[in-house]
Amino acid sequence: MKPDLFEAPDYYNVDALLSEEHKLVREAAREWVKREVSPIIEDYAQKAEFPKQILNGLAEIGAFGPYIPMEYGGAGLDQISYGLIMQEIERGDSGIRSTASVQSSLVMYPIWKYGNEAQRQKYLPKLASGEWIGCFGLTEPDHGSNPGGMVTNFKDKGDHYLLNGTKMWISNAPFAQVAVVWAKDETGRIHGLLVERGMEGFTTPETHNKWSLRASATGELIFDNVKVPKENLLPNKSGLGAPLGCLDSARYGIAWGAIGAAMDCYDTALRYSKERMQFGKPIGQFQLQQKKLAEMITEITKAQLLTWRLGVLKNDNKATSAQISMAKRNNVDMAITIAREARQILGGMGITGEYSIMRHSMNLESVITYEGTHDIHLLITGLDITGLNAFK
Ligand SMILES: Cc1cc2nc3c(=O)[nH]c(=O)nc-3n(C[C@H](O)[C@H](O)[C@H](O)COP(=O)(O)OP(=O)(O)OC[C@H]3O[C@@H](n4cnc5c(N)ncnc54)[C@H](O)[C@@H]3O)c2cc1C
Repeated sequence: MKPDLFEAPDYYNVDALLSEEHKLVREAAREWVKREVSPIIEDYAQKAEFPKQILNGLAEIGAFGPYIPMEYGGAGLDQISYGLIMQEIERGDSGIRSTASVQSSLVMYPIWKYGNEAQRQKYLPKLASGEWIGCFGLTEPDHGSNPGGMVTNFKDKGDHYLLNGTKMWISNAPFAQVAVVWAKDETGRIHGLLVERGMEGFTTPETHNKWSLRASATGELIFDNVKVPKENLLPNKSGLGAPLGCLDSARYGIAWGAIGAAMDCYDTALRYSKERMQFGKPIGQFQLQQKKLAEMITEITKAQLLTWRLGVLKNDNKATSAQISMAKRNNVDMAITIAREARQILGGMGITGEYSIMRHSMNLESVITYEGTHDIHLLITGLDITGLNAFK
């Protein structure tokens, strides 16, 4: 892969809206990605392997629990810093950002918000340091967009719960030490359970043959009469709102992350367009290529402003789930469109691993599907503005 010459676009001086702390956090993440991710990521994506050696580095830049209080090992940062870290990591690779998103928003967040003090003390510091990796089991083979239909269930056996079922498409599953698993009790109410690797009857087979998020490990979670200790139930929230609350936090991070992938594609294509000569001129001098580049920076700028504003609302605890859906949907769609256009600007070189664009493009096919598909987020906006529920 070519050396990482990334220069972040900031057409509307959005930086002026950031604090010194935001910029410091972002710089640390940006430098780390250049040093530790860019040189190796193409190779790991080609091998379809997660680079485990970067876990400590991810912890050091605050990617594991950016907004979790420092008393539990988190970085104690605000929501905009969290977003900027996700942006920079996804600038490197969406698969690496997925690992950080799952760890922070889908594992640490529910333990922090829905867990008791003993659970927080036991798990959060280990997860913040990267000593333990977590995963989040919501999706099932027959229940993706409709997680409320899940069939994974547990029965109260007096001194323990007995868990049965299967989860599918679970990021980090093949090497996670702990899984936050959503399952129904005997009354049909959804609860979160902390299931640890090594519990009898719990297996995590890896999902192979992915053309997308190849540097992220994906797998199933299979529970065959797993005895889960009663103290592993998250006590402070139940019902579908509990996992959806985690998804709000992760989707917010994805909205930022997608900007990172788009920035990388735009920056690569812009540089290439000035260097590549055809018909005696740089291809960037042709109006057709300028149209592509001008539209890209316009869309990136709109996404930066939308997402910064969402971060301000989130810091004030005022961001609604529907606002987060709008940003996730808009930004991932923006990024996937830019990746496709940027790849064309690179011509044949665009399909090779010499450049990051094709990898981003393929990764974004997962990002536009997971954490609520493009369609589902549109329906959430539709419900919010009309008050009429298209899901029923
Ligand atoms: C790489 C990867 C990693 C993932 N990681 C995780 C993870 O860590 N944890 C986890 O729990 N899940 C994870 N997922 C699962 C992901 O969240 C689901 O794939 C997603 O929610 C969609 O579910 P589905 O694949 O079953 O698609 P389906 O729900 O079957 O949807 C298929 C199509 O039908 C459309 N559709 C569905 N319902 C409606 C409707 N009411 N109206 C209109 N159209 C509709 C969808 O938009 C989509 O286009 C991951 C997925 C991938 C690909």
